[in-house]
Amino acid sequence: MKTLFDFNFKNKKALIRVDFNVPLDEHFNVTDANRIEAAKPTIDKILADGGSVILMSHLGRPKGVEEKYSLKHIVSKTSEILGIPVKFTSDCIGEIAEKAASDLQPGEVLLLENLRFYNEEEAGDVEFSKKLASLGDIYVNDAFGTAHRAHASTTIIAQFFPNDKCFGTLLAKEIDSLNKVLKDSKKPVTAVLGGSKVSSKITVIENILDKVDHMIIGGGMTFTFIKALGGQVGNSICEDDKLQLALDILHLAKEKNVHLHLPVDVVAADAFSNNANTQVVDVRAIPDGWQGLDAGPKSLENFKEVIMNSKTILWNGPLGVFEMENFANGTIELGNFIAESTANGAFSLVGGGDSVAAVKQFGLESKMSYVSTGGGAMLEMLEGRTLPGIAAILE
Ligand code: AMP
Repeated sequence: MKTLFDFNFKNKKALIRVDFNVPLDEHFNVTDANRIEAAKPTIDKILADGGSVILMSHLGRPKGVEEKYSLKHIVSKTSEILGIPVKFTSDCIGEIAEKAASDLQPGEVLLLENLRFYNEEEAGDVEFSKKLASLGDIYVNDAFGTAHRAHASTTIIAQFFPNDKCFGTLLAKEIDSLNKVLKDSKKPVTAVLGGSKVSSKITVIENILDKVDHMIIGGGMTFTFIKALGGQVGNSICEDDKLQLALDILHLAKEKNVHLHLPVDVVAADAFSNNANTQVVDVRAIPDGWQGLDAGPKSLENFKEVIMNSKTILWNGPLGVFEMENFANGTIELGNFIAESTANGAFSLVGGGDSVAAVKQFGLESKMSYVSTGGGAMLEMLEGRTLPGIAAILE
């Protein structure tokens, strides 16, 4: 895997695809600069070598050129984070961009205007990619959030740098963390899969059954399994057309010697509301009119034992409706167990959407070994797919 450290950037212009798709408030202030901070190590290494940096990114989903999606709004925040004044061009290709790039001196950073002001970006247009490519000497991809898209700046551009392309530190870390879970993992390996539906996780489940020793299934997915096994799930979320699929997964797990753990009890509510009445019930006997919205205490005890005995833990998807305070306990507790196991030496990776949001919301981020920055991209990797942005660097 070619990384930044295989190159000396002295007097080179590095063209870096970053993910600066950050949230802005109504005054165009950056409200969460995590993604900019995450790109800093890559930028710092290139500058320290004596190179210069050209940053390219998208912001939002503009239809053509839309002022509110201009990357000029993030120039001051990026300058503040990098500790140097960042230059900006009002176009990402063409004369203006070419002039700004050729004027760039070692130690300087230039940010290009929003790539998605051109439809060619998402279309993966070769001519557009070529124009972007002409701005730099070495291509660096450090945008994990878009690595599953075959866009111009994430994938197609790489062909113009047959030998001079590499992963940035952020993207390398994402790949490395996933490999620690799925390839060179320390056993026992446990995957915790939660979230709302079996149907959206089926490919993930099938792919990782080969790599794990334990699989904990929680969240809304639980009830499709429980109903398939003959339990009564009341009004709980349940995919009736996936009952056979659930049985197939249970069968497959057995065949592969994977211990599959389902909740044994749940916090049931008489409405999908934080103010609903609640009771803890056996997961197989949820009364009519009630729905399971969080893992119960016995389930959590069981899950804790599995987590504490694991050396590698992957977590994707919440154990309950964590957005509502009264049904967040299972997700928080699970996060605490994983944090404790991590402190004891386990490797933990949290990835793919809502569990990342939960980990951040409950202040557990720093207690996990790695929290992925890309929702969709991480899910696709867990599904065993090769991401085009990654393949383009490896080719
Ligand atoms: P996903 O996007 O599939 O990872 O699902 C995440 C969503 O699943 C979150 O918004 C949770 O509120 C929801 N969820 C978790 N547990 C349950 C449950 N028992 N019933 C309904 N929704 C749930």
